[in-house]
Amino acid sequence: MTAAKAAAFPAAYNAQLQAALDFMRDGNRFLVVSHVQPDGDAISSTLTVGWLLRQLGKQAVMINEGAVPVRLQFMDASADIVNHSKQPLTETFDRIIAIDCADYRRIGSVKEIFAESAQLLNIDHHPTNDAFGTANLIRIDAAATVEILYDLIEFGGIPLDREAATAIYTGLLTDTGGFRYSNTTPRVMHAASRMLEENVAGHWIANHLLEQMTKPQLLLLQRGLSRLTFSDDNRIAWLYIAFADMAETGAVGDDLEGLVNYALNVEGVDVGILFKETENGDVKVSMRSSGKADVAAIAQSFGGGGHVRAAGCRVELAMQEAMASVVQAVREALNA
Ligand code: 5GP
Ligand code: MN
Repeated sequence: MTAAKAAAFPAAYNAQLQAALDFMRDGNRFLVVSHVQPDGDAISSTLTVGWLLRQLGKQAVMINEGAVPVRLQFMDASADIVNHSKQPLTETFDRIIAIDCADYRRIGSVKEIFAESAQLLNIDHHPTNDAFGTANLIRIDAAATVEILYDLIEFGGIPLDREAATAIYTGLLTDTGGFRYSNTTPRVMHAASRMLEENVAGHWIANHLLEQMTKPQLLLLQRGLSRLTFSDDNRIAWLYIAFADMAETGAVGDDLEGLVNYALNVEGVDVGILFKETENGDVKVSMRSSGKADVAAIAQSFGGGGHVRAAGCRVELAMQEAMASVVQAVREALNA
């Protein structure tokens, strides 16, 4: 069997890969941070960058504004990711690596410990990324940020091991919805295959992350589905979760994951939306599209962002007004 051919990238991307490696080689101690409410790719990318820095003989402090979601804690090194809301660090950092953050705001409160003169390397795959770093490594056709990190590891000729491969595989799996979404390219499958060669427990991770549900998650789904609403033409479906639903079902933030797909997955629906009331009464909006509407553009018009088929924003309106306003914007986008 011949090894999968190393990817040949355009010169401009190679230059970004080189700059990212130089950024890592230049410093000694780094702060590695991903976005608020981290998902599988965010945590996996954090762990992969931490691992990569250690391979280069550097110190990495991994941090997030919040906790690592329980279901992602199977990755051993996830226990090393500092929860900034719980145990804020007093140290400030002048070398930052921000990963999977479409914009600077997505870093959240962790930016409090950036030194004023901090140099920041921005590694991301969101098309709405505004290149906010001092150095930027961005490939918008990458399925996940971990895919870009795999590019970087290959580019740097750094040998993989099972720890890194497990994180990379997990990020690929979660950001492609189990290798099903349209971002599942040949490159993704090559990368996943390469990770399995390192004895990653792919079947166990898939079952753990994609099949198993917690009881609160199911109770939350029951409430969400009981409120499922369709537009007159059935092309938009949405559901909402009130703030009180969380405590009443025993659910935590992670338990909302995947809920929006129930709206999109109805035959004929082009945009599915989940509205989640927050503690202060604002509404967090998650949108998913069949591809017929660009939900990143819609989210951006509300101050958010994301991808064509998966995007989000926060709306400072009460639930009923938020739903009316966002559904109307989606209606206009579909009829444009
Ligand atoms: P989710 O709906 O799962 O929270 O997010 C879907 C996608 O939209 C993710 O790629 C995420 O990065 C992006 N996204 C979600 N919420 C926001 C937001 O408030 N601002 C921005 N810029 N992107 C968001
Ligand atoms: Mn991602």
